[in-house]
Amino acid sequence: MKIAFNQATTMKHSTLELDLAYCEKHGYDGIEIRLDKLKDYLRRHRPQELKAFFERSALRPLAFNALEQISFRDEESFRQIVNDLKLGEIGGIIGCRTVIVVPAFDVGDYTKQAIRDETVRALRQLADLARPYGLRLAFEFVGYPNCSVNTFGQAYDIVREAERDNVGIVLDCFHFHAMNSRLEDLRQADPADIFVFHIDDCEDLPAGALRDRHRVWPGQGCIDLDAILRTLKEIGYGEMASVELFRPEYWEWDIERAIRTGYETASRVIRSYFPPVKA
Ligand code: ZN
Repeated sequence: MKIAFNQATTMKHSTLELDLAYCEKHGYDGIEIRLDKLKDYLRRHRPQELKAFFERSALRPLAFNALEQISFRDEESFRQIVNDLKLGEIGGIIGCRTVIVVPAFDVGDYTKQAIRDETVRALRQLADLARPYGLRLAFEFVGYPNCSVNTFGQAYDIVREAERDNVGIVLDCFHFHAMNSRLEDLRQADPADIFVFHIDDCEDLPAGALRDRHRVWPGQGCIDLDAILRTLKEIGYGEMASVELFRPEYWEWDIERAIRTGYETASRVIRSYFPPVKA
């Protein structure tokens, strides 16, 4: 299993330039690019420079993060999302073919069926709009009580029902743990549907109380990462694990130390199930 870095981990003080340089130096295989960091980079550089970086580097662009609240939108705000999809043009230039998409929060008293219908509709519409760019949508459920889609099982049903080959799921260990997603549901999944795998860990708070700020380096918290990794191995998923933390404490660390620690902690956890693979 290869290892990628998600820029949320150094979100507060780093830049795309710095994250690229340190990820390359410390052995990562991939990077997930945040849209705000990309916009910031493009104030100083042309897309062609980013393309040139990836051409000479072993580092691969794994995915863009993220299009938020794709479901339960009115027409006007949906147009904003469609506008954001133009990043597909940059994706074409640098070879990044995946964008993470996130469901709505605080939608009110909708049943799970109504949420499912609306989210499938939104995903299909976006998938068709993304297709001309060659973009895939990786649907990420969020393990918060107020997220309309907050377990693996619920998210995977939606992805299956959308029936688009450019729609898949994000498995994030934190979100999986935070609302008690079930390993049986993961065990039923087709590994080809897992477009992105986020590895992380968290403090031991009860389900429903966990927030992104409680994330800690892989192996240093209470998530049963062994069970998740074992299940992934069973179903035949072994592509890439992307280190994604949102911990304010780590944002204050020296950037290089944070990036190096992410690689070391993730590889230590992964290695017993998946021997290192180099591109
Ligand atoms: Zn994630």
